[in-house]
Amino acid sequence: MTSQGFSEPAKKHLGQHFLHERTVIDRIVRAVDPRPGEALVEIGPGQGAITFPLLRRDGALTVIEFDRDLVAPLTAAADGLGSLRIINRDVLSVDFSALARELSGAQSPRIRLVGNLPYNLSSPILFHALDHAAAITDMVFMLQKEVVDRMAAGPGSKVYGRLGVMLQAFCTVIPLFTVPPGAFRPPPKVDSAVVRLVPLPADQVRVQDRALFAQVVREAFGQRRKTLRNALARTCDAATLDAAGVSPKVRAEQVPVADFIALANHLAREGVRAGHG
Ligand code: SAM
Repeated sequence: MTSQGFSEPAKKHLGQHFLHERTVIDRIVRAVDPRPGEALVEIGPGQGAITFPLLRRDGALTVIEFDRDLVAPLTAAADGLGSLRIINRDVLSVDFSALARELSGAQSPRIRLVGNLPYNLSSPILFHALDHAAAITDMVFMLQKEVVDRMAAGPGSKVYGRLGVMLQAFCTVIPLFTVPPGAFRPPPKVDSAVVRLVPLPADQVRVQDRALFAQVVREAFGQRRKTLRNALARTCDAATLDAAGVSPKVRAEQVPVADFIALANHLAREGVRAGHG
């Protein structure tokens, strides 16, 4: 079944699950609460479930959609609602910082991101957004619930891992609500959830060397059953862990985000650089 004007069937390889449940759409729009003058950017508008209510509220919206077949019907359906700009590209190739400079007249140009993301690309999109966190005010994303649980998990949780640590070092992660499969056509196999991410102001980001921090976190969780001393053997020894105030005997899943940051910063001060040569 397709919406009016949209004749193509959903494309599985593009993660197309179109929202149709009005109450869910309204909750997302309320969570975004767009204000005139904001530079709002939607990732993956699809058949416009969130796009058109946002456009009605804001009057202007930029969307990034990979599927060329959706460009003409989106353009036609937006007629009379406001100014819809469609960037027909892979979102991973879009430079959000450049887009913010283009869209926002403000002194420190920023965009707000919103999207019911293609689930097969959710982690790459989140890491891409992190690379441009300074140009982003906030993000309201629909993802698999299991991914949102990982994003928000703390130490000791079974789902605490690389994704949560990387995001929480640079953003506040606020899970908002869960959405059942029946809210989409076709329905996905899993529950979904909406989450808000707010990048920390630059003066609150404690990580000094992002590449080194990313390496430490990747290695620590690469072998999550091992103690930090063993998992991080390529990067540092037990004495260095002790000096950074981090126990070499614990596993990564027990280590708070602040301790990963303290360790990476300690290594940076010791002159360690990312990469093993
Ligand atoms: N926003 C719509 C909704 O809620 O009904 C559609 C959401 S659907 C889960 C994901 C959308 O992302 C699809 O429209 C799909 O074509 C688009 N998409 C998939 N991969 C993409 C990519 N690499 N770059 C931009 N858009 C992409």
